Amino acid sequence: MTELLPDYCLEAIPVFNKKIRGFAMEDALLTGVETRTSSPVCIKRGIDYQSVNTKELYPAGGRAGYAGGIMSAAIDGIRIAEAMALAMNEDN
Ligand SMILES: Cc1cc2nc3c(=O)[nH]c(=O)nc-3n(C[C@H](O)[C@H](O)[C@H](O)COP(=O)(O)OP(=O)(O)OC[C@H]3O[C@@H](n4cnc5c(N)ncnc54)[C@H](O)[C@@H]3O)c2cc1C
Repeated sequence: MTELLPDYCLEAIPVFNKKIRGFAMEDALLTGVETRTSSPVCIKRGIDYQSVNTKELYPAGGRAGYAGGIMSAAIDGIRIAEAMALAMNEDN
């Protein structure tokens, strides 16, 4: 990894080990590097959470561009469920 990563990345490993004990164990194996954390695209949606050009399509979560992690994806899912329930209620 010393050949692949800049020094500041390697310096972060023992720092993380102070926050998460065991993060830098002697026998730990680093197999990959996460370089992108969120989707490069965003499917536009309106205030009703539906796609601006496809009614009844609710773009949601990471790949649609509305979340960058587990919590934000979960919260976006709640928002979408509420918007769908509201729309279904209005239709009845
Ligand atoms: C290697 C890695 C590490 C990560 N680590 C973290 C982390 O430490 N902390 C953090 O907060 N986030 C992390 N993330 C990001 C997090 O996993 C995502 O942001 C989150 O899971 C997005 O949730 P989602 O529901 O939008 O999408 P997903 O969790 O991808 O769910 C999409 C679902 O749709 C299903 N699906 C796809 N196409 C179809 C289809 N045509 N029909 C039916 N079902 C379909 C898939 O099978 C999947 O179950 C990580 C991501 C990766 C890849």
